[in-house]
Amino acid sequence: MFDYLLSDKQKKLQSEARDFVKSIPRKMILDMDADEIQFPKEFLKEAGKRNLMGCRYPEKWGGRGMDWVSTCMVMQEIGVIGYIFACTFGVGAELVCDAIILHGNDAQKEKYVKPLLKGEIFAAECLTEPRGGSDFFGTSTTADDKGDHFLLNGQKRFIVGGEGADYFLVYARTNPEGEPHKSISCFIVDKSKGVESQYLYGLMGCRGGGAARVVFKDVKVPKENLLGGLNQGVKIFNTMMIPERLGTAAMTIGAAAPAVDVATGYTSKRKAFGKPVAAFQGVSFQVAEAVTLLDASRAMIYATARAVDEQIPEKQIRRMVSQSKKFVTESCQKAVHNAMQVMGGIGYTNIYPVERIFRDLRLASIWTGTNEVMSMIIANEWYKQYHDKKKDGAVRDLEKDAVEADAKDEKIFE
Ligand SMILES: Cc1cc2nc3c(=O)[nH]c(=O)nc-3n(C[C@H](O)[C@H](O)[C@H](O)COP(=O)(O)OP(=O)(O)OC[C@H]3O[C@@H](n4cnc5c(N)ncnc54)[C@H](O)[C@@H]3O)c2cc1C
Repeated sequence: MFDYLLSDKQKKLQSEARDFVKSIPRKMILDMDADEIQFPKEFLKEAGKRNLMGCRYPEKWGGRGMDWVSTCMVMQEIGVIGYIFACTFGVGAELVCDAIILHGNDAQKEKYVKPLLKGEIFAAECLTEPRGGSDFFGTSTTADDKGDHFLLNGQKRFIVGGEGADYFLVYARTNPEGEPHKSISCFIVDKSKGVESQYLYGLMGCRGGGAARVVFKDVKVPKENLLGGLNQGVKIFNTMMIPERLGTAAMTIGAAAPAVDVATGYTSKRKAFGKPVAAFQGVSFQVAEAVTLLDASRAMIYATARAVDEQIPEKQIRRMVSQSKKFVTESCQKAVHNAMQVMGGIGYTNIYPVERIFRDLRLASIWTGTNEVMSMIIANEWYKQYHDKKKDGAVRDLEKDAVEADAKDEKIFE
């Protein structure tokens, strides 16, 4: 639908991504869903060989020097194979590497970004702790300065790639007495002595992505693995919100679209009362709603990606990426819900992939910041923006456009 927005270079990359998607064996998808593969290294190795990861990064570090619009296009294409494929593709290449590209030094980029984008090593992002994921500033993992190294202690959970990763991006408290905003640092932690991961969750969907608990016990982290300076974790966290939310939104569209395709084919063939069920408006209107939601989602992510590429003010980006994450994930869940509904009983079985997509996509509104947290950010930013606009006096006073606008006795606020 929105391919007309893409340049020839982006269309070429899209066609490469589609070839890759076609090459993934069905067995790999089924084995991951059955928890028979714990982490899809073969998939990531092949994505690396084809140079599909991190396309917006400079060529010098293994990217293609492209932009966020291109990244959103690729993430959608990868999502088509299955949500968890896009999760593992995204976490290492689009999240962890984004932080290193933006905040790391050349030695860190050489050691951790280049080989990851080639599919030679794997990474995970460790933010959520057992005591809570929404409250980033409540992080209780600590990293004590021991002179030539930091000593890392703590636990993270639900970490995609926790099982399988060669290194972890870890947020930890480096100044336990300080204000939370000024006391968290970010580290690149090799899978080394003291790092233990356990693949232990019985997940509803998104299986096979290595989601694990990761425990750090007296882990010696060399000084050179501090990312972006001491107590600068918040700065890194803030920039990571773009790939977290925009990347999640983009891949969710790709993962939802196959359910709507399958439902469209099924309802064209399946008959009831002597007609294909698609001839009933009760059915075709649900499909119409689903495709409209998918296209509205695509429009939103491309507009947001463009805003990021154009570097519009940060506060606007914050609202746009949060809105994209919330609107797109909820719209895609509704689209998949409709797809299952119009297929009747068979949609609820594993004869068609719709039930797996439905299970997988439930994660979309929970991870990379819950949608309640997105609403909190959207509301904060919107109220600030509204009051700034009023302060400037640059816009028409709309309240006056009412017949009884001067009825002061009726305008009671307390
Ligand atoms: C399969 C899977 C993969 C994941 N992968 C990763 C990963 O790779 N790396 C990583 O770091 N984390 C990962 N997560 C963790 C995920 O990001 C967190 O689960 C999520 O951010 C919520 O944190 P929580 O589970 O601790 O819930 P809590 O923070 O305990 O929240 C519980 C409920 O309270 C609500 N709530 C909390 N605070 C507020 C508030 N201020 N206003 C309104 N409502 C609020 C939440 O929205 C939620 O509904 C993953 C989770 C799953 C299930």
